[in-house]
Amino acid sequence: MQSVAVLAGVGKKRQQALAELGIESIESLLTYYPFRYEDVQQRQLAEIQDQEKVTLKGTVVSPAVMSRFGYKKTRLQFRMMQDRDVFQVSFFNQPYLKDKIILSEEIVVYGKWDAKRKALTGMKIFGSGKQDSFAPVYHVSKKIRQATLQDLIKQAFAQFGEQIEEILPVQLVDKYRLMERKQAIYAMHFPDDMDTYRQAKRRVVFEEFFLFQMKLQGLKQAEKAEVNGLCLSYDAKQLKAFIQKLPFELTDAQKRVTNEICADLKSPKHMQRLLQGDVGSGKTIVAAIALYATITAGFQGALMVPTEILAQQHMESFVSLFAAMDVTVALLTGSTKTKERKHILAGIKDGSIDILIGTHALIQEDVDFAQLGLVITDEQHRFGVNQRKVLREKGWKPDVLFMTATPIPRTLAITAYGEMDVSLIDELPKGRIPIETRWVRPPQLDTVLHWAKKELAKGHQMYVICPLIEESEMLDVQNAQKIYEELKEFFEPINAVGLLHGKMKPSEKEQVMEQFKENQTQILVSTTVIEVGVNVPNATLMIIIDADRFGLAQLHQLRGRVGRGVSASYCILVANPKNEVGKERMKVMTETTNGFVVSERDLALRGPGEIFGQRQSGLPEFLIADIVEHATVLEVAKQEAESIWQQKDWKLLPAFHALASYLANARKENVFFD
Ligand code: ADP
Ligand code: MG
Repeated sequence: MQSVAVLAGVGKKRQQALAELGIESIESLLTYYPFRYEDVQQRQLAEIQDQEKVTLKGTVVSPAVMSRFGYKKTRLQFRMMQDRDVFQVSFFNQPYLKDKIILSEEIVVYGKWDAKRKALTGMKIFGSGKQDSFAPVYHVSKKIRQATLQDLIKQAFAQFGEQIEEILPVQLVDKYRLMERKQAIYAMHFPDDMDTYRQAKRRVVFEEFFLFQMKLQGLKQAEKAEVNGLCLSYDAKQLKAFIQKLPFELTDAQKRVTNEICADLKSPKHMQRLLQGDVGSGKTIVAAIALYATITAGFQGALMVPTEILAQQHMESFVSLFAAMDVTVALLTGSTKTKERKHILAGIKDGSIDILIGTHALIQEDVDFAQLGLVITDEQHRFGVNQRKVLREKGWKPDVLFMTATPIPRTLAITAYGEMDVSLIDELPKGRIPIETRWVRPPQLDTVLHWAKKELAKGHQMYVICPLIEESEMLDVQNAQKIYEELKEFFEPINAVGLLHGKMKPSEKEQVMEQFKENQTQILVSTTVIEVGVNVPNATLMIIIDADRFGLAQLHQLRGRVGRGVSASYCILVANPKNEVGKERMKVMTETTNGFVVSERDLALRGPGEIFGQRQSGLPEFLIADIVEHATVLEVAKQEAESIWQQKDWKLLPAFHALASYLANARKENVFFD
């Protein structure tokens, strides 16, 4: 569409100011939706004067009851809740309003406040008309005022409104009874009433998700169509033999995901698979099997992890897994000595090294593989999109498997990783006893430590996690140091205490970890460097100091360090949360050990941005739609987009003509992806 410069009153300067708001075309102006509407006064009930006329927004919490009195007089009564306050609302002689009062729905009522009775005598339910009360409010800047923007939008409608075409396929508009595009865009700015606004918003939310999913599915198709993906024809017999020799039997879920991965390896399509599984569900062994399959097909594999400790740990377990086999595994990290490094790089280049294990930094380095077939990244919960890009840019086209232990709520998974296939390990190895989590206040720590002493006497080990002090890593370390000294005093000489923190050299960390693994130390005081992946099954106790300083996802990760063996495990959260959300978080942890439940609750308590870290996440930002609030719509939009992409040459079908050309234009503008 045309530039906003065609509108009266938009000169160079104003055009620039609009551009700063992200408004360049008429289309982007028309879809620059208000973030709220003026009529809704968010006022504290306590502040409202007796008999004052106010507009209140809240939820209907009791059904509307109508009573008759006198000659033809009626009273309609119901209760409404604003924040936590519940109050009575009565309408006199407007019986027809009853249909507008729907239990559990949000409602905006205008009326007269009775402070003594804490009740509202209703005069109007918005919006029964009255357009001004719905004046839109936009995010604006110093250079563009509300009135200016509103004026420009009105102007744009007058001049270009007729050109707004329906872009959704008619069948979808009908199926979901959506408002027409033109009407909806108009109503988003200037709704006649609450109901019209709701209908408009419903349509816009669907459209946003649907268009996004259309693009995502398009990407997915493009990936799939890439016929230059690798065919890894692995040796099924060798693979079976390997699996049979494992010290345990795979769980059904492990078997299932292994099959899914193997099918991808074999096919010429370019694997992009996300392997999700709660902490302790046994993803490492699945990775090992996939890598082994790759090797039997004559290719090399790489395993990347976020920390050196983890790389070291994987190295050890792989070396023992492949001990009796003709498989060469190498470890490459920041602390690999120059000489050894040279040697390893040469081995990767000439193909004598089969599996390379390293930190995520590996892909940024000058590593040159002879024949790379599969890249697996472990604990893949922060990177996603970025890493995929880096791989592509390096010109590597291996199959890719992303493993994550942070269970991603389904809604986020289909948004952030929508172009990937997802495999799920939804079962823990047999014999695991759920971790028992307790929340105590700081004064009880002493009691906890005495109890811990008894538990340790049974031969188990314990982690003590120290709080993260955001302002300074140095303070963090000092704090851990202090707790370490105190615990030494308390537990030694019966039990030995080790200390691990981020300021230590990699070799020191390794040594401390080794001592803990070997049970030379029974207690490991650590900052969150221990957060992901570490596997010491004999450790059954975890104490997290100042647990309220951690996010839920992180607490769940930390807790996952215990409960990895066959003995009962305990996690003690020591915290004195200052607010309700903090208390709620502690409660969630004590109530469930299911990572999916934890992350759903986390999402609800914190919002999606924080879980992923907005910018890194690759999560698109939607204008109006909210992936939590409108999760079902997202799901539906995804299904519809998928089914359209399943139709061969859908772009040529008349029903999708407008949609196809809209998407083609949007691609140029790059609306969703950077
Ligand atoms: P995560 O999914 O958190 O990375 P790991 O791969 O570290 O979990 O596995 C956790 C522990 O469970 C390890 O000690 C591993 O050897 C063990 N394990 C994995 N699969 C099974 C299984 N099928 N039966 C018994 N133990 C298993
Ligand atoms: Mg792991």
